Amino acid sequence: MKVLIVGGGGREHALAWKCAQSPRVAHVFVAPGNAGTALEPRTTNVAIAAEDTDALLDFATREDIDLTIVGPEGPLVAGIVDRFAAAKRPCFGPTRAAARLEGSKAFTKEFLQRYKIPTASYATFTAADFDADYVKTLRLPLVVKADGLAAGKGVVICHTHESTIETATAMLRGSFGAAGNTIVIEEFLSGEEASFIVVAHHDQVIALASSQDHKRRDDGDLGPNTGGMGAYSPAPIVTPAQHARIMREVIEPTLQGLRNDGNPYVGFLYAGLMIADDGTPNVIEFNCRLGDPETQPILMRLQSDFVELCEAALHGNLHEISPQWDSRAALGVVMAAGGYPGAYAKGDVIHGLDAAARLPGKVFHAGTQQQGTEVLTAGGRVLCAVGLGDSVEAAQHQAYRLVDAIHWNLVQYRRDIGHRAVAREINSGAK
Ligand code: AMP
Repeated sequence: MKVLIVGGGGREHALAWKCAQSPRVAHVFVAPGNAGTALEPRTTNVAIAAEDTDALLDFATREDIDLTIVGPEGPLVAGIVDRFAAAKRPCFGPTRAAARLEGSKAFTKEFLQRYKIPTASYATFTAADFDADYVKTLRLPLVVKADGLAAGKGVVICHTHESTIETATAMLRGSFGAAGNTIVIEEFLSGEEASFIVVAHHDQVIALASSQDHKRRDDGDLGPNTGGMGAYSPAPIVTPAQHARIMREVIEPTLQGLRNDGNPYVGFLYAGLMIADDGTPNVIEFNCRLGDPETQPILMRLQSDFVELCEAALHGNLHEISPQWDSRAALGVVMAAGGYPGAYAKGDVIHGLDAAARLPGKVFHAGTQQQGTEVLTAGGRVLCAVGLGDSVEAAQHQAYRLVDAIHWNLVQYRRDIGHRAVAREINSGAK
């Protein structure tokens, strides 16, 4: 069969790499892909942007693609699954209506509250009804969020009422474009974050291996928020008891609620959680797709056929399969261009990829571009180096050996990806 992966980041490189390993797959196309996907066996890049649904559907029809898997949220929120379904082309992901869970934070907060799923208390405002006096009565710190998609940047934590009101006013005046026409102001939650990703078809659901990412740019979880600077799997905070609680209190009521509302969910569903000290799994956000960079370590651990998993979810046969996971830990370190998540340079030559390819582990590409025999930087997050090991610490060691082999002008990365899990391992005496 032929598979089309939509997107061109590190997540999509991991998806393409994993799909190409399936014995059922003759060829994988990636639109638009990157220098890493271009080098994978049985894989070809196609010069179509991830948002260009018309061209993607034309291509899928022309090539008679059997399965399309969508990486990023943009095309899902814009309705690519509905378009493909209307043309009877299999496309794995949620419909536009179900993808609102990621596309609108105000929609999601109302949904969570209505179905009594744990989340921070909140209020929503537009420019017409913003109430600064009411905001002054709320307990600090507060979190101000743009309602729509803002590439992970539309969230500001405020420690004074003045800064909350200022941030809210700026968003409502358009500092995040139309995404901030509606805003959410919510209670600040403390605890430890975990990513919980499932694959679902209506009421059928299988949890993927747990994972945790690092959103802040700098060591010690400091500095500005980014799309993610590294991730590892499994996440020790998701114990079997915690796993059962998340399924019961978050995932099952969410899928049930969507069905009740007439928007049954098909696809990957990612719950960003803040696990409180008492174990309450508060929902911070939902994503309607796999996470980046969580996908890279998660798929490194998947031993069974990923295409089979997606097809079972697409056709409602999830009860027939049970994915097998490598018991080892996987850990990915994102290597980014200097300046990211602000302005950064493109076009720097990446050195050491050949040396890294001879080491254990796997380097997934994100913002890269092939030029002649060289690979150049072409985005903010450039690579994700993933190691495997019997402990998170061992996986971390393998990942950083890859990182140390690679260099370009002004490369930046964190040296402490996995630090919480490693500290847990040391405290518990695990090796
Ligand atoms: P979001 O885009 O909603 O995932 O938010 C980005 C990041 O902001 C999250 O990963 C958290 O680290 C932080 N965050 C969002 N909402 C809250 C909250 N209510 N309390 C504490 N931290 C939050």
